[in-house]
Amino acid sequence: MLHARVERTPYGETSEALFLTSGFVYDSAEQAAATFTGDAEHYQYSRFGNPTVDALQRRLADLEGAEACIATSTGMGAVSSALLSHVRAGDRVVASRALFGSCHWIIADLLPRYGVTTVFVDGGDMEGWDKALAEPTAAVLLESPSNPMLDIVDIAAISERAHKAGAIVIVDNVFATPVFQKPLELGADVVVYSCTKHIDGQGRVLGGAVLGRNDWISETLQPFTRNTGNALSPFNAWVMLKGLETLRLRVEAMARNAAGVADFLAETPGILTSRYPGRKDHPDYELAQKQMTGGGTLVAFETEGGQDGAFRFLNALNIISISNNLGDSRSLATHPATTTHMKIGAEERARLGISDGAIRLSVGLEDISDLKDDLARGAAAVRSGL
Ligand SMILES: *Cc1c(COP(=O)(O)O)cnc(C)c1O
Repeated sequence: MLHARVERTPYGETSEALFLTSGFVYDSAEQAAATFTGDAEHYQYSRFGNPTVDALQRRLADLEGAEACIATSTGMGAVSSALLSHVRAGDRVVASRALFGSCHWIIADLLPRYGVTTVFVDGGDMEGWDKALAEPTAAVLLESPSNPMLDIVDIAAISERAHKAGAIVIVDNVFATPVFQKPLELGADVVVYSCTKHIDGQGRVLGGAVLGRNDWISETLQPFTRNTGNALSPFNAWVMLKGLETLRLRVEAMARNAAGVADFLAETPGILTSRYPGRKDHPDYELAQKQMTGGGTLVAFETEGGQDGAFRFLNALNIISISNNLGDSRSLATHPATTTHMKIGAEERARLGISDGAIRLSVGLEDISDLKDDLARGAAAVRSGL
């Protein structure tokens, strides 16, 4: 996260240089020509490659244990390019049902428009996976822990089944972060990130990344991202490089806070359930222990009193902000049923276990006692309205 494959300019700068340039100049017409035939190594244009973006890609690849990485304009740019570059009309894609809102839209609405058959499976339903993967399949997309209820999906077991069906396995690893989960080691083929979340981690810029094998990245993904324009700004890449330097420290401290918050909420009147993958009462605790090295930075819980209770809770908070973003150094809380998961409708929400009282809390770096005071304020407001 700090030193991997540093390339310095002749000035010997300590911090990574920022190459804020769209294009590059050549010494001669011959050099330009040789660059385009591939006989000379030279940057051509920042949509194709940029030294600051390359530095981020190298470092993310080393961190993930991946052969190669392409950084994208956003996390959704990463997910959409990974899928669209790989599939053709007539292909089949299988996905876990509990997905980030826009990922759900890509599977449910976008891919079918291009002649791709898509199938959703409940993440924990192994019979469902077996059935869905009994037919030849091009790709599997899954998210673990899932948004917003933090269900855990068995990456190793599903990768094994998916490979038998001929599919590549794409894991959205945003909630786990590269600190707590390594999907490639569990058998997945491709990992995608919204770097907007923990990797920047300070709520400043958008960005994404796709990581995988050299041949797939260079032959399948790269021609797609280069020619469709899914490029990360060098400025954003530079901000992400700064974020990476403190990623482990931040995420581990946030996870300690999250564990403390989950324990506190579990004993607080006004709160019905508190869900955290690192707590023994999480329904998938054993599996979380097997495939993650930490519980993550998010907590999901349910207030008494349905939507009214949840709104009273959120409106009473002083320190924790109401925001649908996550992975920030500041604690952020959202009511999924009326924000991130509003569009999927009540029936699909019920299927995913997202109740009207559910709140997703992204736990930040505040002092734990300040967070507990704030949560107690929220819980008292829930009770006062009952
Ligand atoms: C935020 C997020 C995305 C999308 O990332 P953007 O950078 O907002 O485009 C995808 N998946 C998960 C799990 C996310 O949290």
